[in-house]
Amino acid sequence: MKRRKFIQNTGLSLGMIALAYNKSFADILTQQKYQFKLLRNNVGIFTEQGGTIAWLSNSAGMVVVDSQFQNPAMNLIAELKKASEKPLQYLINTHHHGDHTGGNIAFKGFAEKIVGHVNCLENHQKTAAAQKSEDKQLFADTVFKDQWKAKVGAEQIQANYLGAAHTNGDIIVHFENANIAHMGDLVFNRRYPFIDKNAGANIQSWTEVLEKAIAKYDNDTLFIFGHSLDPEKVTGNKEDLKAMQNYLEKLLLFVKAEIKAGKTKEEILKAERIPGAEEYQGQGIERSLTAALQELTK
Ligand SMILES: [Zn+2]
Repeated sequence: MKRRKFIQNTGLSLGMIALAYNKSFADILTQQKYQFKLLRNNVGIFTEQGGTIAWLSNSAGMVVVDSQFQNPAMNLIAELKKASEKPLQYLINTHHHGDHTGGNIAFKGFAEKIVGHVNCLENHQKTAAAQKSEDKQLFADTVFKDQWKAKVGAEQIQANYLGAAHTNGDIIVHFENANIAHMGDLVFNRRYPFIDKNAGANIQSWTEVLEKAIAKYDNDTLFIFGHSLDPEKVTGNKEDLKAMQNYLEKLLLFVKAEIKAGKTKEEILKAERIPGAEEYQGQGIERSLTAALQELTK
């Protein structure tokens, strides 16, 4: 009875799943939950839980961009160590949020330098102090305001700060030879973004930051996104940057028109889609609407 009910509830039993994929139960239960994947020119991505991680592993060393949380970070480190015995020169944080820096601590004694924007460090320290979680953090020891560069073997890395956006400390990390740019949370691919007003986010400025990025990189640049509605689409091209920019512009236009029409906050927060940016979906549209209201009524 119980088993029958389970099958009814899930639709598929493990046995059926195993048959469909020609795998044993044991295989399925021990299957890796994460993805460690090469993109091109020694640069790849790692996904498990939290913001997408980028990694470089070449004959001179290794670099990691963002660290998710402690457990996924340990899985990533195990994969990197399997592939290379070279030192990890840089762990770079695109911004301070816990799903991008929570795994920093796993790099203690492994990463030679932790790099981030000055505001990323400040936000990270402030948030950790508020949560009394300083002992679980590893903070950036190498900070910059506008630009930071480094060379690891044949790969040239350039990180740029283009202005306030998702927070006031988001950077873009470009692997120049591979022509791969990690956008951090500057792009939520077709998914309602988090707009962290408490950490200096600015929607108008975010659209301008994306405009600069669209001008700065070329049509061959492969972009990595912090988050995506479709988990298979954490990488993309300039069209995805334009879609994100369009979403933010349409969000501001929509909320501005609603305020002008005399709508209350409660009425505005009921919206389920942003007109002109309907491809943006998922959970949390109210976070966008609240942030836009805050920005437009301050
Ligand atoms: Zn974030």
